[in-house]
Amino acid sequence: MPTPTPAARTHAPDLHPEAAAGLNTDWLARKEAATPRGIAVLENFFVARAENAELWDIEGRRYIDFAGGIGVLNTGHRHPHVMAAIRAQLEQFTHTCYQVVPYASYVALAERINALVPGAWAKRTAFFSTGAEAVENAVKVARSATGRAGVVAFDGAFHGRTFLGMALTGKVVPYKIGFGPLPGDVFHAPFPTPLHGISVADSLRHVQRLFKSEIDPKRVAAFLFEPVQGEGGFYPAPTEFIAGLRRIADEHAILLIADEVQSGFARTGKLFASSHHNVPIDLVTFAKSLAAGLPLSGLCGRAELMNAPGPGGLGGTYAGNPLAIAAAHAVLDVIEEERLAERSQRLGERLTQTLNGLKARVPLIAEVRGPGSMVAVEFIDPATGQPAPEFTKRVQARALERGLMLLTCGVYGNVIRFLHPLTTQDAVFGEALKILEEALLGA
Ligand code: PMP
Repeated sequence: MPTPTPAARTHAPDLHPEAAAGLNTDWLARKEAATPRGIAVLENFFVARAENAELWDIEGRRYIDFAGGIGVLNTGHRHPHVMAAIRAQLEQFTHTCYQVVPYASYVALAERINALVPGAWAKRTAFFSTGAEAVENAVKVARSATGRAGVVAFDGAFHGRTFLGMALTGKVVPYKIGFGPLPGDVFHAPFPTPLHGISVADSLRHVQRLFKSEIDPKRVAAFLFEPVQGEGGFYPAPTEFIAGLRRIADEHAILLIADEVQSGFARTGKLFASSHHNVPIDLVTFAKSLAAGLPLSGLCGRAELMNAPGPGGLGGTYAGNPLAIAAAHAVLDVIEEERLAERSQRLGERLTQTLNGLKARVPLIAEVRGPGSMVAVEFIDPATGQPAPEFTKRVQARALERGLMLLTCGVYGNVIRFLHPLTTQDAVFGEALKILEEALLGA
């Protein structure tokens, strides 16, 4: 078995290339021997350090990171303000458990989020650690407030890997295989995907059909949807769809929950994707880019709903960790000071233009879509009309060979999504677009 070398613990760029050669292979072998295959890993290299939109592996190779730890790094790796805030908090205290000894920074962050989440009504915010936890707690609050059990989610949705998260997720492979039984009273309707022939009307009709075939609407606590479906393929929810859900919800006293775990914090050109639609949302979940990589999620909603669970019903030992809360304050400052919502829009437009400009030369490009920087390109074989996952993988692999990390998504694995830091320098962004072009033309 390979042994660890001291070099593996130093910053890769300082390594002599010969000393570093083979380190990734060694660690990959050790990974295979020490960790389960269920935790699948995308890249075959290990990170040594990262800065804004760039990342270096332990052999000293440089990558442009357009994965952002799956949408966590809207403010980039190691933003100096975020690092300074974490450092300052480290000198004060790192844990008390908020439910034991509270800290003001938690309350102040809740106040900020209450003011920023769309809706002029009184709100309350609670913090947790993961996206799945935020979603679970949204359902707890909705059930507690309505006294009803049912939840309607959507095909292709991703809401987490916990038991309720799996049940709510609208994709079987790989998330639900072998893990059942899953919690009941969860139902799915198709999400509007016009490219695949599902209109807003189709989707809303299916929701109504569930009330005939599956569950009495009086037993439904909430509709749960992603304003831009993330893992499912970066499909934006049209305003008519959200407004349609709101109408049906109001008719039956059902709540509307927006899962903004992936779409939040300026990704879509506004702080929250829900802000693009003037439709009232009762509960909003968020996580990922909130704390730039420190584990923090949250749930913000109407005060009367959030106050439904009794004292002690919500919380968690690490929920709202002080270091993560400090990072989140800094992230909100950076988004505001560096006008990242506008920058998200600008970078997204640049990317969209590049992709649209390649359509004539890459006929597999079926659609380029997404608000702000929540951009995706979907590939369909024009000859067969079928999704093209193999082509998608080749584009991803060619980009990686040239130093650009990209993520795929979509129920058919035929979509490339872009989760670049919104702080990516113009020159680095230009370099990435050049690589993307080469990858698309040669795949
Ligand atoms: N909801 C959405 C929309 C997500 O994109 C994700 C993660 N990709 C989750 C929930 C689950 O978040 P976590 O992995 O932090 O539990």
